[in-house]
Amino acid sequence: MSAYDRVYNFSAGPGVLPVPVLEQAREDILNWQGSGTSVMEMSHRSKEFTSIIEQAEADCRAVYGVPDNYKVLFLQGGASLQFTMLAMNLMHGEADYVTTGSWGKKAIASAKLHGTANNVYDAKEFNYDRCPDLNSLDYSDSASFVHFTMNETIQGVDYGADPSIGKDLVCDMSSNIGCRPFDVSKYAMIYAGAQKNLGPAGTTLVILREDLLDRIPENLPPMLDYKVQADSGSLYNTPPCWAIYMCGLVFKHLLSLGGLEAVEKNNRAKADLLYSAIDNSNGFYGGHAQLPFRSTMNVPFVLTNDDLTGEFIKEAGENGMIQLKGHRSVGGCRASIYNAFPIDGVEALAQFMGDFAQRNS
Ligand code: PMP
Repeated sequence: MSAYDRVYNFSAGPGVLPVPVLEQAREDILNWQGSGTSVMEMSHRSKEFTSIIEQAEADCRAVYGVPDNYKVLFLQGGASLQFTMLAMNLMHGEADYVTTGSWGKKAIASAKLHGTANNVYDAKEFNYDRCPDLNSLDYSDSASFVHFTMNETIQGVDYGADPSIGKDLVCDMSSNIGCRPFDVSKYAMIYAGAQKNLGPAGTTLVILREDLLDRIPENLPPMLDYKVQADSGSLYNTPPCWAIYMCGLVFKHLLSLGGLEAVEKNNRAKADLLYSAIDNSNGFYGGHAQLPFRSTMNVPFVLTNDDLTGEFIKEAGENGMIQLKGHRSVGGCRASIYNAFPIDGVEALAQFMGDFAQRNS
């Protein structure tokens, strides 16, 4: 197999990366820009790495439109550590949580270990197929923030737009950051594990409004203290240098494509193709999310005759389409089509779904 015999990888994460980014990384692997070392071998205090992390932050700010009064941090421990860290730093006793799927459930469970985490809405009765209107919910006056998950990776439900509720919003954007333009100023904090729309696993992007740093309790463990991390420019300890470098390449790539408007257009086209294949199958396939909340990143679907699911996944694999098995908690199938997923891969899947349905109806 040559480096270019790549399969269509529908993995939910770590997910597919843009080929030009991988090519640039290959180019740099032995000798980053004449430095004589790879990024993996550089001191994180060297002038070379300083330029890499500063450029990554600058390009992140440019592509996401991050206002000057927000910090951009590259942390470790995945989005899962943010469930804990944000509660330790920002909860101050009480916070409100909106639960629309599996990751939101984990976020509130972690927060409960650090204070009163109110479950102000839970889509359980709808089997997590929708998002609420955040303006219609009752919040606690003493809650220090409202937390929600913009896109639930397992259930494939997405709010579709930035909410605005006049409260400090904390948003888990792990599985859809930058899938469309978003307004950072609507949020107190945004966090996202890198391994879907940003880069490889190993770093977690945190975008945090600066005034929140003044309210952080004293004496948190330094690695878990946003102020310590912000004051040290994400360099309190040895950071995941390679992952940060790769995220930097992804930000540059997004800018070269014309930014998030262009990315959104492409994502819309891909999602429309896939949902049409489901909707036009005469019930052979079924989707999960209610129409207005259909994710453009993660598309879970079932074969109405579940006995055929194993064969469907097997044949797809034989045809170069991998990682279509649904999450173990919900079964069925799931196609994750992140920013870097090519449209020809979605066309191939839609075609295969049609053929498979015809042969097995
Ligand atoms: N939140 C969401 C929405 C996710 O999809 C994931 C990972 N799939 C997580 C949080 C947890 O991320 P990590 O594995 O980086 O801790």
